[in-house]
Amino acid sequence: MPEFPLPELLDLDRRHVWHPYGPMPGRQEPLVIESASGVRLRPADGGELVDGMSSWWSAIHGYNHPVLNDAVRGQLEKMSHVMFGGLTHEPAVRLAKHLVDMSPEGLEHVFLADSGSVSVEVAVKMCLQYWRSLGRPEKSRLLTWRGGYHGDTWQPMSVCDPEGGMHELWQGVLPRQVFADAPPSGYEESYAEHLRERIGAYADELAAVIVEPVVQGAGGMRFHDPAYLRVLREACDAHDVLLVFDEIATGFGRTGALFAAGHAAVTPDVMCLGKALTGGYMTMAATLCTARVAQGISQGEVPVLAHGPTFMGNPLAAAVACASIELLLAQDWQTEVKRIETGLRTGLQPLAAEAGVVDVRVLGAIGVVQLDHAVDMAAATRAAVSEGVWLRPFRDLIYTMPPYITGDEDLARICRAVAAAAKAG
Ligand SMILES: *Cc1c(COP(=O)(O)O)cnc(C)c1O
Repeated sequence: MPEFPLPELLDLDRRHVWHPYGPMPGRQEPLVIESASGVRLRPADGGELVDGMSSWWSAIHGYNHPVLNDAVRGQLEKMSHVMFGGLTHEPAVRLAKHLVDMSPEGLEHVFLADSGSVSVEVAVKMCLQYWRSLGRPEKSRLLTWRGGYHGDTWQPMSVCDPEGGMHELWQGVLPRQVFADAPPSGYEESYAEHLRERIGAYADELAAVIVEPVVQGAGGMRFHDPAYLRVLREACDAHDVLLVFDEIATGFGRTGALFAAGHAAVTPDVMCLGKALTGGYMTMAATLCTARVAQGISQGEVPVLAHGPTFMGNPLAAAVACASIELLLAQDWQTEVKRIETGLRTGLQPLAAEAGVVDVRVLGAIGVVQLDHAVDMAAATRAAVSEGVWLRPFRDLIYTMPPYITGDEDLARICRAVAAAAKAG
């Protein structure tokens, strides 16, 4: 039995608990979820909701998965955590080996961080320290394209879209980075030239270019031609600039390739992973780098990477991450993601003709409906919930990235909910 009656729980939540991007006290009443299994969330006040969000890209295998549960339970019986300084353990080592084996050729070293934002901080520190170690400390800025999102801690905020995004408030306080225009969806040589020009013009100050490859997530759910990744790779090589791919949202099959970098067969110097890394079970992220970056750092006056979170390499998270990766690779995930892509196309494409809809786009297991106005988030969410689906629209976007195990009927239901949310919002 729940300890608090529902009204009391909601009242305490409103008064004491911060929620993502929320005010204090809370103004919108959150749904209380009691349990979840498969693709279904169970609200405390009854009923079931098909999850269209994979808990922000992470629960790719759905909830309460027997294999993932066993992995956590098995590890729990051994140890839930030990410090990583001076100690190591099999789950972390096995996870690092998996990540090196499955990620683009050339990424060899793994830093296990505790969240996506921290993995981006570590990526930035690696790049800045690389140039410092090579005697070029003036190479300390980052270049990115507009429309991006890289997390909510300081360095990540500085490379999020500077306008209209979540971190606009902090302009003038954040490190000043270099921005290129947002990438167009199709390939345009003039835009490729713009990227080359920007990288060339600022090369002396640039430590790295950082982008989300192929799909920009929370910055606006925009897709772009993978060919731009090759343009970035070539321009970075030509101008002595490192290249960082933030695959925290795109990793582990979401876009139809295991990593979005695979769409362009490009290896970045540094790559960030998170979200689906543990199958949505626990918080963990990873920063991978090449031998060149690691060797550069180790040549410096300070030859170590001074970063070491308390919960680095957490065995429970590492064990469930291994199980999630093994589960993914053991199945024909390409076919499942393709099936979802087809289902989303069929279900969402007709919405392109509706009033107020400016674009419908689908890639892999990601479906996006963009409106010509900001959504009324509360009304849109309510409309989806009355269709039996959990969605979390933002700005002018109603979007879904369902778990890969979502069946065709549930997928059709998600599409109906997106339609309802678009109409209501
Ligand atoms: C979610 C996200 C982050 C931040 O990860 P957290 O785990 O929320 O800190 C960074 N980059 C991208 C591309 C993301 O989607």
